[in-house]
Amino acid sequence: MKKRVAIIGAGPSGIAQLKAFEAARRAGAEIPEIVCYEKQGDYGGLWNYTWRTGLDEHGEAVHSGMYRYLWSNGPKECLEFPDYSFEAHFGRPIPSYAPRAVLLDYLKGCIAASGIAGYIRLRHVVRGVSYDHATAKFTLHVTHLAEDRSEVEQFDDVVVATGHYSTPNVPGFPGFDSFPGRILHSHDVRDVVEFAGQNVLLVGGSLSAEDIGMQCFKYGAASVTFSYRTRPMGFKWPEGFEEKPLLTELSGRTAHFPDGTTREVDAVILCTGYLHHFPFLSDALRLRARNRLYPGGLYKGIVSTSHPKLFYLGMQDQFYTFTMFDAQAWYARDIMLGRIALPDRAGMEADIAAWTAREEALTEVPDMIDFQADYMGDLLAATDYPVFDLAATAETFKVWAQHRDADITTYRDHAHASAVTGTMAPRHPLPWLDARDDTLEAFVAAQA
Ligand code: FAD
Ligand code: NAP
Repeated sequence: MKKRVAIIGAGPSGIAQLKAFEAARRAGAEIPEIVCYEKQGDYGGLWNYTWRTGLDEHGEAVHSGMYRYLWSNGPKECLEFPDYSFEAHFGRPIPSYAPRAVLLDYLKGCIAASGIAGYIRLRHVVRGVSYDHATAKFTLHVTHLAEDRSEVEQFDDVVVATGHYSTPNVPGFPGFDSFPGRILHSHDVRDVVEFAGQNVLLVGGSLSAEDIGMQCFKYGAASVTFSYRTRPMGFKWPEGFEEKPLLTELSGRTAHFPDGTTREVDAVILCTGYLHHFPFLSDALRLRARNRLYPGGLYKGIVSTSHPKLFYLGMQDQFYTFTMFDAQAWYARDIMLGRIALPDRAGMEADIAAWTAREEALTEVPDMIDFQADYMGDLLAATDYPVFDLAATAETFKVWAQHRDADITTYRDHAHASAVTGTMAPRHPLPWLDARDDTLEAFVAAQA
């Protein structure tokens, strides 16, 4: 019987796995039977905006926490597919930073060009995965949400591509119970217009805090106070912004900080990150990880060391996104096709230990960028993924980091060159701070 592979999730990582198999099939390889289960009604993962928060129309947890007016926070040149350029998709060069809808349109164009949509079963949620050592098969319990019908299927290999930025990490603080304003996690932010004129407290010191803080600035909040646990972000913030150590308590609207200072706040947004959360996996299969560049337990960042027929894509903290998922997917595919042999468990763990030791010595952002580029290069060297100038994209990321340090309000106004086409991106006619229409149509029209 033909080998069967299940892919869970049709976001950028699941799409990468489908593209990898389809590329092999088109090149003449015999590929397994593949089924991709996606619980949402469309492909694209987090890039699918929804107004919903909490539970969706089927009672499932809403996956995406992307909000209106979100623009990509990295240059598009650092996630561009080598065989599907932005210039080819849009028919002309576009600026380096684009709103969410533009990125989703590009991703969908890539799906169409790859001819992979037929593998995907939309509105199918995977509720259970277990492994039987006797049969060497995984059993998946899946519910077809639209038809309210469940099915049980068996597979030889499973690829978990469900992302790790959708189950919010929600700490509590003394005084939250009696705070008279809104308290929400960044996952539930849909736009920040409601906070215009308000004093907003953002707990957290990473990319959500920074971007939602900048959204607050763009859309008229009166002030933004960041409260960090480990270290301040340290950007040159606009007037009305400040960074404080971790909130100790709220008394009424008054926020108290360890340095003895207080601030009156109208709303609290917890930008406290996400949990790696896989409620559908049995205990033995479940990855335990946190948001870091090299999570443990995964050989080459993808293969479960305890169950080497179980693959995880995109579980890393991410400078690189779409192309890193591709690199992982091509490598995972080649293991599943028998083109790459796995070492024994000790060999896998030694490889992980070497990468982890290197990761733990990293302190500076440029070194972290190089680390992730090297990780990708290690994977790419073993596969037939289309060649592209990975080193050039790492340099672009380093320039991006400099632009952010120089001025966090204008870094998106810069232009970068494509490592795929060589074209220097045009600049958007408006500075990001003034570009308020985030629709695909407005973005495309602005380039005309
Ligand atoms: P996801 O995009 O999360 O996709 C996972 C898919 O799995 C979803 O479609 C989900 O519905 C499905 N799924 C989950 N559970 C099940 C189940 N049980 N059964 C069936 N299907 C299931 N990256 C960038 O490059 N640039 C950005 O500007 C950027 N902005 C971001 C903004 C926010 C707010 C967040 C949270 C992340 C952002 N990212 C950005 C990073 C983002 O993680 C990646 O771009 C990318 O979406 C990750 O792809 P993925 O496929 O691994 O996961
Ligand atoms: P993150 O990078 O994992 O950061 C989580 C932050 O929460 C860290 O600063 C962490 O502090 C803090 N934290 C965790 N638990 C805490 C606690 N109990 N008390 C106080 N602070 C706590 O998560 P994220 O910032 O949500 O970013 C997730 C992803 O979304 C990233 O890939 C990012 O690029 C993406 N994103 C993109 C955009 C965009 O513009 N396109 C916008 C938003 C987010 P420590 O440092 O102490 O651990």
